[in-house]
Amino acid sequence: RLRNFFQPRSPDYKRLDGLLAPDFTEKSCLSRYQTVLYRKSSPHKPSSYLVAKLRSYEELHKRCGPHTRSYSISMEQIKSGQINSSSECNYVVWVAFCGLGNRILSITSAFLYALLTNRVLLINQEPEMEDLFCEPFSRTSWILPKDFPFKDQFDSFEQDYAYSYGNMLKNNTINASMESLPSYLHLYLSHDYDHHDKLFFCDQDQTLLRKIPWLIMKSNVYFLPSLFLISSFEEELNKLFPDKETVFHHLGRYLFHPSNQVWGQITGYYKKYLAKADERIGIQLRVFDNKTSSSQFMDQILACTLKEKLLPEVDMSKTIPAPSENQRSKAVLITSLIPDYFEKLNDMYLKHPTLSGEMVSVYQPSHEEEQHSDNNLHNMKAWAEIYLLSLTDVLVTSAWSTFGYVAQGLGGSRPWILYKISDGETPDPPCGRALSMEPCYHAPPIYDCKAKTEVDTATLVPHLKHCEDISWGLKLF
Ligand code: GDP
Repeated sequence: RLRNFFQPRSPDYKRLDGLLAPDFTEKSCLSRYQTVLYRKSSPHKPSSYLVAKLRSYEELHKRCGPHTRSYSISMEQIKSGQINSSSECNYVVWVAFCGLGNRILSITSAFLYALLTNRVLLINQEPEMEDLFCEPFSRTSWILPKDFPFKDQFDSFEQDYAYSYGNMLKNNTINASMESLPSYLHLYLSHDYDHHDKLFFCDQDQTLLRKIPWLIMKSNVYFLPSLFLISSFEEELNKLFPDKETVFHHLGRYLFHPSNQVWGQITGYYKKYLAKADERIGIQLRVFDNKTSSSQFMDQILACTLKEKLLPEVDMSKTIPAPSENQRSKAVLITSLIPDYFEKLNDMYLKHPTLSGEMVSVYQPSHEEEQHSDNNLHNMKAWAEIYLLSLTDVLVTSAWSTFGYVAQGLGGSRPWILYKISDGETPDPPCGRALSMEPCYHAPPIYDCKAKTEVDTATLVPHLKHCEDISWGLKLF
């Protein structure tokens, strides 16, 4: 049984209320139009301003994207290092090495930055990212061409990279009053960046950066909430996103469509295991330290899901009765690097009847044991699982995990977050409901650019709060 199949459809039904451009062929990217058959339709509509902005971005990308005349002219300026007035296009190039969740969130941040600054976003796609996503913009490409001049230097571009904007500020080798500015700058916006790198989030610095045609950004974080601290973006952001909780929800659904290959895995799994259930519950399990035992985490998972009545209790004194015809069914989708939680939960529901009389089936698509973000097939499985989680009706996620943030944002749900076990202490309560479906920004700036002092940036503008799972993190709500 697929969702929404018999629901009345508006003309914009498949295009997510105009979010997606009309000029794609369905075959080239099946997930773009077929996801609506599997996912609840979103109660959050994109603003007409956002829809218009995306359409004009697509035109810009077509004009300036790889293999266009404008791109060739812009290439000349990056090669010469000089700003050439004949170029009409400006770019932001995204580079990173990290887990898939982090990549998706930082690409989304770079895309919103591109929208706000009229730049074209190009992503450096290493082999491990191939065939994960469809091209998001029609009749052009967002993949950085292979002959891009700095490609072989991306690995060495770390925090102390001499040509990064932050380092140049530290060494006083760049300022807004300089007569000749370079045609490109590197921006280091990764989790371990320092004070000077984070001056990127100041209005004064944006004034300078606006003049630089090529910005090469290394980022593995969801820095998007910090764009709301830059006052010159404020008016535009308010028009684009009247509802601040939906920024990733809309941009994520706009940008990230599983390739046909990954979509085949997703739909095959969904139809086989999840489609028939009356309700689907996704439980995303991620442990970041090796001190937490799987039995301690399992206790926390049960304490949360049973207390919040997401899963029914079992009668341990009885063995399972045969399922009756009209028994209500729940499918539980577990995602985890290890099989332990699936095995315990599956065992519990196979061996004992539920007190509610519901039938519970437990599934886990893979257990990869370890993170291998440099492996393409591993990333495909991760992407398929993130997407499957986003198709569930109820979501439980693990604190600190961007894997879970992406699933909640695409699905449009406020998950129950399993709080982090720290110093061996199981948290009490074991979980809590997220206040907003936005992802958390783990490494926000703590600097007031106007007052030039440290500040709690969550207090500077409305719509920003500290995260439920990371006290110093920042999120939109
Ligand atoms: P985060 O580290 O939890 O914030 O999420 P990331 O996605 O950025 O990085 C973790 C990576 O580990 C994922 O991208 C996968 O490669 C792998 N991984 C972690 N949990 C799972 C899981 O439940 N299923 C699969 N298939 N891979 C996982």
